Amino acid sequence: MIKPEEALRIILEEVRIQPFEEVELIDSFGRVLAEDVISDINVPPFDNSAMDGYAIVASDTAGASKKSLRRLKILGELKAGDVSNFEVTSGFALKIMTGAPIPLGADTVVKKEDTDLGDDEVSIFCEVEKGKNIRLAGEDVIKGERIFPTGVHIRPQEIGLLASLGKSKVKVFKLPTVAILSTGDELVEIDEPLAPGKIRNSNTYSLMAQVISCGARPFPLEIARDNVDATKRLIEKGLEVSDTLLTTGGVSMGDYDVVKDVLDDLGAELKFWKVAQKPGMPLAFWRLGEKLIFGLPGNPVSTIVCFEEYVRPIILKMMGRSHIFRPEVDAIFEHDLQKKSGRAFFVRVNVKTKDGKHYVSLTGPQGSGILKSMSLANGIAIIPSETTLVKTGDKVKVHLIDLPEDH
Ligand code: AMP
Ligand code: MG
Repeated sequence: MIKPEEALRIILEEVRIQPFEEVELIDSFGRVLAEDVISDINVPPFDNSAMDGYAIVASDTAGASKKSLRRLKILGELKAGDVSNFEVTSGFALKIMTGAPIPLGADTVVKKEDTDLGDDEVSIFCEVEKGKNIRLAGEDVIKGERIFPTGVHIRPQEIGLLASLGKSKVKVFKLPTVAILSTGDELVEIDEPLAPGKIRNSNTYSLMAQVISCGARPFPLEIARDNVDATKRLIEKGLEVSDTLLTTGGVSMGDYDVVKDVLDDLGAELKFWKVAQKPGMPLAFWRLGEKLIFGLPGNPVSTIVCFEEYVRPIILKMMGRSHIFRPEVDAIFEHDLQKKSGRAFFVRVNVKTKDGKHYVSLTGPQGSGILKSMSLANGIAIIPSETTLVKTGDKVKVHLIDLPEDH
């Protein structure tokens, strides 16, 4: 049996970042850039007006006030998208809309609100400094600038910048496909009636949702029954269609736990089996060629917690992400909890924040089959292996799987 830190270390060592592919700009959303992006233009491409108003020569407004108006003759008007043939000289103004290019000769824009809105002539109420209300060419991005390095996580604001640079196609790391195989003779599909002795297959669905929440692609397989032939056929299929395979159930010590035998038979290299933790002790991990395989324990909470702690980070790493772990905070425990030494506990907790401090309370019974207390949790508190007693007021480390609540 190895420690959780050791298990995570072994897993992370085996992960390889995905190859890249070129996709349409919008399909790069949520993914990670696999190229440096250099701008071949200035953004904005030309000096333009930040306001609706009048393009003028700043010195014409020297000493202007409500009591001492300055009157300028209007040459014409300029909309966004058009260019002007007028040159603005002293004594003249060009009516200009936001986004329109600054005409030759003008060195400032007086906004509408500081004028009488005149059409043939305009009166200006105040002094306007040179350069006011002008957005300069290249003030956002300069031609030749490396705007993003490889590794940037593409959010809506990056999509906007890439669009303004004319990047209609973007190189990103390929999304991993994650095959999911639930095993068990007792399982029925969710739209089937519950015959005596049967339970519904929930793990396939919680895992699919977890894979989707990482931004990767789940590939659910049909339920594998607890025999070597069925399990082998479906594991082979899962390996064929995926970059990583997750199995659930069938990795304990029972007579019908055949997942390990099948993977042995297929020549997979077992990297570890059994981690000193609760829930999720029977967790197993293999490599077979380029593929990584997780044998997640069947209990629904063990499956979810093992995914959170071990699978999520590697999926994010495969996708090229650099922040692969949930935020970890110190929090004040609001219970007394006794445990035996020898196994770390991953405890389902509710995290609340007050005055910048985090407080955690248990969300309910901690049995590894009790999904309701998992559903109420926004954090997983880590109680170290050697700890035997946590008292009210003690500090514990918590992985935030959701936003904390306000106290
Ligand atoms: P196992 O690891 O196969 O011994 O399964 C441990 C427990 O988890 C058993 O009570 C199973 O019925 C339950 N279990 C296994 N797979 C699933 C699943 N896909 N959905 C819900 N419960 C499951
Ligand atoms: Mg089973």
